[in-house]
Amino acid sequence: MTTNRTFTMIKPDAVEAGNTGAIIKLIEEAGFRIVAMTKTQMTSERAGQFYEVHAERPFYNDLCAYMSSGAIVPMILEKDNAVADFRKLIGATNPANAEEGTIRKLYATSIEANAIHGSDSDENAQIEGSFFFSRTQQF
Ligand code: ATP
Ligand code: MG
Repeated sequence: MTTNRTFTMIKPDAVEAGNTGAIIKLIEEAGFRIVAMTKTQMTSERAGQFYEVHAERPFYNDLCAYMSSGAIVPMILEKDNAVADFRKLIGATNPANAEEGTIRKLYATSIEANAIHGSDSDENAQIEGSFFFSRTQQF
């Protein structure tokens, strides 16, 4: 069962800006428990695999370059209704449309450099979590 878990990563812009700790604080204060966490950097190829669903979109090449441009902090998170509640916490893809108090409103700088990722379904949360973590890395 993956129902109460979601997957996130703090993106290169937010890590580079020194906002990792502030973002993790918001995540924990919102009631999410960190099940797994690491700091790593993707190659452009690996970023392309992660965002494969967007392969036909015009922004795909830029997205792969941006997501591999620096360190990221992937995490598996646990909470009741995790996927939907986390999407609410991060806010709209474009920070210009994100609600006050959301992580993207606070820390995103553009529609591309939008600080944080959040899975959009239980199925994708499971797939994306497995992309970065094995069972023995989950607590
Ligand atoms: P994520 O999947 O990262 O949580 P999302 O689900 O809000 O974001 P998606 O539509 O899945 O948005 O887009 C994936 C990522 O691609 C966005 O978070 C953003 O970094 C980038 N992106 C989306 N739309 C655009 C765009 N129009 N121009 C540039 N980059 C974009
Ligand atoms: Mg998405």
